[in-house]
Amino acid sequence: MSDSLSDEQLKCIFDTSRCPDCKGTLLAGPEGGGMINILCRDCHQEFNVDRGFGLYGHRNGPCSEDRRRMFGSVLVFTHPEPPVSPVARRGVFGLLNCVLRGGL
Ligand SMILES: [Zn+2]
Repeated sequence: MSDSLSDEQLKCIFDTSRCPDCKGTLLAGPEGGGMINILCRDCHQEFNVDRGFGLYGHRNGPCSEDRRRMFGSVLVFTHPEPPVSPVARRGVFGLLNCVLRGGL
């Protein structure tokens, strides 16, 4: 039986690369079909998530000690297009204002 992860839990995993349960460190495990198994190093919960889009994931449940050997490096999800921060956005509008004023 598997348990679908909520949007909030997925956000925690993909945005912060942290365990949605305890905010622990995630380790990368076996992957296939665009999905990757991830293990929390701290509470040993295992999850299976869609690594390409970060839209779907479910909980595999507690990971046995034997199975934990299949997980290795610390997992950090990267975001090719990070959201523009409010400060950067203000910068763009500020620049736009200057250009318009200069044209008058
Ligand atoms: Zn955890």
